[in-house]
Amino acid sequence: MQGIELRIKGKVQGVGFRPFVWLLANQYGLNGDVNNDGQGVLIRFVSPPADALEQFLSDLQNKLPPLAQITDITQRAIDWPEATAITGFTIRESENNQMDTQIIPDAATCPHCLADLFDPNNRRYHYPFTNCTHCGPRFTIIKAIPYDRKNTAMSVFPLCPQCEREYKDPADRRFHAQPNACSVCGPHIWLQDREQTLATHETALKQTALLLQQGHIVAVKGLGGFHLACDANNRKTVDLLRQRKHRPTKPLAIMVPDLQFLQDLAPQETELLTSSAAPIVLLAKHKVPNIADNIAPHLQEIGVMLPSNPLQHLLLRTVNRPLVMTSANASGQPPVLKNEYAVEQLNDLADFYLCHNRDILQRADDSLVRVAFDGLETLRRARGYVPDEIPLETQSTKNVLALGSDLKNTFCLLRHNKAVLSQHIGDTANEQVRSQLSENLELFQNIYQFKP
Ligand SMILES: [Zn+2]
Repeated sequence: MQGIELRIKGKVQGVGFRPFVWLLANQYGLNGDVNNDGQGVLIRFVSPPADALEQFLSDLQNKLPPLAQITDITQRAIDWPEATAITGFTIRESENNQMDTQIIPDAATCPHCLADLFDPNNRRYHYPFTNCTHCGPRFTIIKAIPYDRKNTAMSVFPLCPQCEREYKDPADRRFHAQPNACSVCGPHIWLQDREQTLATHETALKQTALLLQQGHIVAVKGLGGFHLACDANNRKTVDLLRQRKHRPTKPLAIMVPDLQFLQDLAPQETELLTSSAAPIVLLAKHKVPNIADNIAPHLQEIGVMLPSNPLQHLLLRTVNRPLVMTSANASGQPPVLKNEYAVEQLNDLADFYLCHNRDILQRADDSLVRVAFDGLETLRRARGYVPDEIPLETQSTKNVLALGSDLKNTFCLLRHNKAVLSQHIGDTANEQVRSQLSENLELFQNIYQFKP
């Protein structure tokens, strides 16, 4: 029997690509299968009619899932092995455990998950950890490859039957979403002070919002680290935060509940703010009305981001005002990742802590970008962008490891025509930062199977 094989390369693993292929193949009545392997995705069709194949290929490139990217498609004729009779289209389990090897950056909550989050009839109504194949944590929850639930911070949360059904159903948006979870089986939040838990779940959220409105400073656990949050309208609180951080004039980033809190945005600014990377975007001050004048003193710009995970969406919508959201680290220390260290190290900075029990395994600070007259300018590349490869115009004949600077450190793996930059790591004079650097380096070398 004659067949066609399509080899797809790019960002095609762990982004809902196989179910997308499965849906398209079914739509055009194509028989065959799809699987992941070390090179990307392999699609095979048995005697596909030419017009159906053409339509399939066109949709494949034009209707991609939000996080997927195709860099290369090659097509060749094959002899279909007679022994494997095929009717219909199947997703084949990968050989050699090579499933979902690709690690992609953390992605901001997608519109579907956002709708679930605020739909009282949805089973994930107000659930702060909802995610799907098109969004959610990735890089920050891995401890080893391949990217599979057992190698992530989600390994301690066995799927409930309903979540497991979603995970196994190719027609479901949560098919193979490794961090899939719900309030029955997944992580939960609580509010605490230095001594004790004050509230959990929905009550924790409401109380946190109230504390913020009253002018308190709350450490909020995010995707790649904690933030120190406070009311960005409240000059006194912002001053207090500055005193505690010993940062009299350093600009502070803010988070607004949605775009309606901003004005006169350029189309590129809107696009960046709402992108899956959801970085901090530097905006001219007049675009950010109604915030205290001591957020970014003596500067013309302000760093603004939108909520990028469900917990932030819930919190921001409940406080219904811009919040200062600055990276939570004690002076000279790298940002805290663990709950117990947060309470210990942020003791002098935060009044309360909004914590959860999903571990942050990889640090990822908020990325910082601005729209410059000649394109996009990246000032800090971390959450949402790392560990994506950067294509280069020239080809390197060697594997080169660049260890970067001692201040504001990032490292870089150079191979073929691609550069992989680590997240922003920071000042290597600090011992903890240095150990983060070596751990990250080991992980990156593992992910990219890289030997310098
Ligand atoms: Zn989603």
